[in-house]
Amino acid sequence: MNDDVSLGKPTPISVLKGVGPKLSERLIALGISSVEELLFHFPLRYQDRTRVTPIAGLKEGLDAVVQAEVRMASIIPGRRPSLVVKVADASGLLTLRFFHFRRAQANQFKPGAPISLFGQARSSRHGGEMIHPEYRLGATASFLESALTPIYPTAEGLGQAIWRKLTDQALERLIKHPPVDLLAPVYPASLSLSDAIHYLHRPPPDAPVGLIKDWQHPAQLRLSLEELVAHHLSLQALRAKERAFEAPKIAPYPELCKMFLDTLPFQPTGAQERVIGEIMADLSSHAPMLRLVQGDVGSGKTLVAAVSALSAIAAGYQAVLMAPTELLAEQHLRTFRAWLEPLGVTIAWLSGKVRGQARKETLQAIVEGDATLVVGTHALFQEGVSFNALALVIIDEQHRFGVHQRLALTEKASGAGYPHQLVLTATPIPRTLSMVAYADLDSSIIDELPPGRTPVTTTLVDSDRRAEVIARVGAACAAGRQAYWVCTLIEESDTLNAQAAEATAELLKSHLPKVAVGLIHGRQTPQEKERVMARFASGDLSLLVATTVIEVGVDVPNASLMIIENPERLGLAQLHQLRGRVGRGSTDSFCLLLYQQPLSLIGKERLNVLRESNDGFFIAEEDLRLRGAGELLGTRQTGAATFRVAQLPEHEHLLDEVQSLAQALLAKHPSLCELLITRWTGERQAFARV
Ligand code: ADP
Ligand code: MG
Repeated sequence: MNDDVSLGKPTPISVLKGVGPKLSERLIALGISSVEELLFHFPLRYQDRTRVTPIAGLKEGLDAVVQAEVRMASIIPGRRPSLVVKVADASGLLTLRFFHFRRAQANQFKPGAPISLFGQARSSRHGGEMIHPEYRLGATASFLESALTPIYPTAEGLGQAIWRKLTDQALERLIKHPPVDLLAPVYPASLSLSDAIHYLHRPPPDAPVGLIKDWQHPAQLRLSLEELVAHHLSLQALRAKERAFEAPKIAPYPELCKMFLDTLPFQPTGAQERVIGEIMADLSSHAPMLRLVQGDVGSGKTLVAAVSALSAIAAGYQAVLMAPTELLAEQHLRTFRAWLEPLGVTIAWLSGKVRGQARKETLQAIVEGDATLVVGTHALFQEGVSFNALALVIIDEQHRFGVHQRLALTEKASGAGYPHQLVLTATPIPRTLSMVAYADLDSSIIDELPPGRTPVTTTLVDSDRRAEVIARVGAACAAGRQAYWVCTLIEESDTLNAQAAEATAELLKSHLPKVAVGLIHGRQTPQEKERVMARFASGDLSLLVATTVIEVGVDVPNASLMIIENPERLGLAQLHQLRGRVGRGSTDSFCLLLYQQPLSLIGKERLNVLRESNDGFFIAEEDLRLRGAGELLGTRQTGAATFRVAQLPEHEHLLDEVQSLAQALLAKHPSLCELLITRWTGERQAFARV
């Protein structure tokens, strides 16, 4: 094959029937501007509507079509009224539950009426049930289809029908204009690229459903391989590009570091010393450091960051530390002021809320080099921030930031060359994921906690038992201990979350009149948050009601009890982070997961992982197994693109081949690499997971 493959001029999406200017604009905004890009927009999953499942044969968590007869319908009153419909077929009885319904809807369900259902079954205390299934009433109604139904990742206002109509047309053109098989020179596949693409969009009626659901069909593996190679190559390219720049050489300054460490009331752990050594070796080279430090919650990453920053500053340069939330950044500011100001380091504070004259003065101090350490939030990405001699960029809690944001900050370097970069994360990256998601970074692990930590005992508690839990919080506070009460909501709205936390705080105050209750949430000003945190840290407040703003970094060792509401809605990594706020002192610590019934089997399994383990790495592996890579990478927060076909850990067995194919392609056909990277990793909007 010739190396200068050109993909030709891309066929614009507007050639497809039904794509007018408005839809075209919409698709382009989603990153789909050509027919080929549409072909590489694959279904996220499939629904199996090909056969009827008897009620007795329903499996937990699996979609199924059911044909049954209505037995009875009733509205269960309560705080959250629900419509309950009992249906039956020859094999058994099934309960349908609707939490959003109209009263008139209830009257539709006449006993004896034939009903067709499509939904996910789960088992509950009362037997099998479906929550909000799709349903059609009447003898002729049915959800049956002849082949698996593809479900496309989508965005608001774009229904599945639109995706199907568009991909139908794109697939028709596929035969005449097959996409170029870019892997062909190194990977003689038995299945052609076009056939694989066609298969994923329209699995035939006889497709092996189980294989496809497990993501192990040859067509899926074929495309996943290509996608993973593309991601690996893209990170390698990024790394090569960055490493080619010149960074300032920073010689280790052991005397100063020792002087600093001598001011602390503790000794660094062996793991901290080892990682500091790895960083010092990186810094003393002209190639920019690109290092990821993984360390479980509480392992002491801040100290590692401080020593690194101090070294850069002592060598005459500036360092910047950036955190994902205002609260965490403020805490770092306090820590660094206490640790480094006595050594003569001048620290500047920059967040989105520093405005006007204060901002102007801060920016001035940064550009003139008067401030040698800058601590802040994402405001640091904004235009108008320039440095005098930036040599080290430290990013705390990487999973909240994407690669692009990291790079945006490195562009701010001036005078000193390209900055060294240190990324800290408490969300351990499973080895499999790091190969394709973090291949641009070297990695260090702090695999030891400071001595004297007590593991947190975690218990699952049904929210019916809230009164007992409140009493327990009261008793702990009366005994001089401190507690967090964490409120969570599904809605990603600061306002609603704040309201929920406010309501909970009021409730707890009325039940626990002797306890000093504080409240912290994302709608407060930094000053308010700081004041509340300071009062909690000093012991003036015993109980802190909070939203997940306290997820990362907050450090109050005397707090030994944490209640987390609705834990079933959060990711395991996030729960582990939250739980890491307790177990920092010497008293026994407890975390109560106050879950809401009904809890699915998988939901229970997930929470049990936390009950059984305090090990962030183990939890991350389990989280990956139970939730998939996309969510673990934190795409919901960052909007970064996820994999389209590849699944981890299901495709772990492909990774060795991914690496060798990537190497071969890079060595022999570098121009194909670029095309492959563009095809699979181009800028895409975040699609909703449906
Ligand atoms: P994380 O890795 O979660 O960011 P921190 O850096 O916030 O952890 O450290 C957690 C707590 O442990 C802080 O109070 C910190 O001062 C303390 N700490 C850090 N290193 C040590 C150590 N070697 N010995 C004892 N305490 C330490
Ligand atoms: Mg931290």
